[in-house]
Amino acid sequence: MDLGELRDRLGPHAVSTDPAILAERARDWWALAMLRESRGDHLSRPAAVLFPESTDEVAAMLAWADEAGAAIVPRGGGSGVSGGAQPEAGHIVLDLSRMDRVIDVDQESRVVRVEAGTIGTRLEEQLEPFDLTLGHYPQSIGLSSVGGWIAAASAGQASAGFGAIEDLLLGVTAVLPGGRVMTLAPVPRSAAGPDLRHLLIGSEGTLAVVTEAVLACSARPRAWTWEGFGFGSFAELSACLRDIRRSGAGASVLRGYDEPDALLNFGRLGHPGGCAAIVGSDAGLPGIGERAQAIRSVAATFGGRDLGPAYGEHWWTHRGDAVDQYRRIMGPERAFGPGAIVDTMEVAGLWSGLQALYEEVRHTLSAQAEAVGCHLSHVYPSGSSLYFTFIIRGTDDVDVEPRYLQAWDGAIRACLRAGGTMTHHHGVGRLKARYLAGELGDEGVAMLRSIKRALDPHGILNPGALFP
Ligand SMILES: Cc1cc2nc3c(=O)[nH]c(=O)nc-3n(C[C@H](O)[C@H](O)[C@H](O)COP(=O)(O)OP(=O)(O)OC[C@H]3O[C@@H](n4cnc5c(N)ncnc54)[C@H](O)[C@@H]3O)c2cc1C
Repeated sequence: MDLGELRDRLGPHAVSTDPAILAERARDWWALAMLRESRGDHLSRPAAVLFPESTDEVAAMLAWADEAGAAIVPRGGGSGVSGGAQPEAGHIVLDLSRMDRVIDVDQESRVVRVEAGTIGTRLEEQLEPFDLTLGHYPQSIGLSSVGGWIAAASAGQASAGFGAIEDLLLGVTAVLPGGRVMTLAPVPRSAAGPDLRHLLIGSEGTLAVVTEAVLACSARPRAWTWEGFGFGSFAELSACLRDIRRSGAGASVLRGYDEPDALLNFGRLGHPGGCAAIVGSDAGLPGIGERAQAIRSVAATFGGRDLGPAYGEHWWTHRGDAVDQYRRIMGPERAFGPGAIVDTMEVAGLWSGLQALYEEVRHTLSAQAEAVGCHLSHVYPSGSSLYFTFIIRGTDDVDVEPRYLQAWDGAIRACLRAGGTMTHHHGVGRLKARYLAGELGDEGVAMLRSIKRALDPHGILNPGALFP
């Protein structure tokens, strides 16, 4: 593998072998990799990090990689939690962070054309003067990039109002292995064959490198209104959120916490116990008073106690705090002490099976975990996601690893048995790759492999991720 030739083709700015830069890109935010790093394991470093500044440079890099047989791991913000952007020894990381320009805002259509390495908070800052928002607010908005959202099938926390990334992606430019550039023009919808935009969503850097996207924006809410309700049972909580979603009241944020998660999130407000729901709406919606009344009357039919706006306001103010908490727990500080590992698992299923999915995954995780909390984080007319937070404790940072892997193994199998998807928005990465056939079936995996072979015959893009 001749990096010198790549430097000659692109200039020295585009290729780094600086040990500090390699070390920073040895992992993403996968809890297991963070554990291994903080206990002093040597994580595999990439052989080099490439920093393209344009689609043409990405094309030149992928052409070189095909000729050189170099494995390329695309990387946006590196905030993935499933090991999708984690290189193995000898892999080359293709870091899109220098491709962070907002190219154009079409105010009439309310769409933005943006480079794939743009981080979410930067995109929102650039949309604000236009009174627009993408409305895609993952908790990791300050760490994650547009390309990473597409490649990892991301969903923002206001997805009930604005949609998830598949609802926002109107056009895309991507570079295929060998350096061919594919551009799909932005349109609101198309029936011209299978939607190739959607082929890239969730492709986790294994089929193409996304370099530009055209995304649908919305009017930026000037203020939010919040409702909060307490429930005696998880079944009442989830049925209530289902009916609020179906009521047409137009709430953007719908979240429902089981008792342990409610105590964790709202204990500071004196939460007395039981489950809790928060419902957030754009305060500028027409008829907002009647909408709020409709939400309250749905809650009343499920015995919901009115908790007022305080829980929602608290959540909105502190919604990004988990990023630092997670860093403190899983980073060098090891805030919960050695032997502790905290992770999250986000599954989803239809309403008819949601209670069983909740009970089975929770039960299985509880067999290994010291504590498990769960909330409904993305609510649809047909079903919901369930977001489990769990802490596994071992006697030390070595002992905890097999317990952690056993917890994931049991929980994924329980989820699939109960008819759920093993990932609603964190993707498969390296953590869940071996379970893919359990979700897609053998034919589904075979079809995906055929697509992979057709697009990437030399297997240069992100080997080890997504595919079992
Ligand atoms: C504290 C915390 C909270 C989080 N909250 C949320 C949340 O609310 N919602 C949510 O959806 N996710 C959340 N995540 C997960 C993560 O932020 C998302 O998966 C995000 O989409 C990853 O974006 P990224 O730019 O960091 O991608 P990376 O981690 O860099 O990469 C993710 C995957 O995409 C591939 N990839 C990245 N960029 C490209 C590209 N341009 N072209 C092709 N492939 C590419 C990588 O190879 C990898 O397989 C959270 C993570 C953390 C740490």
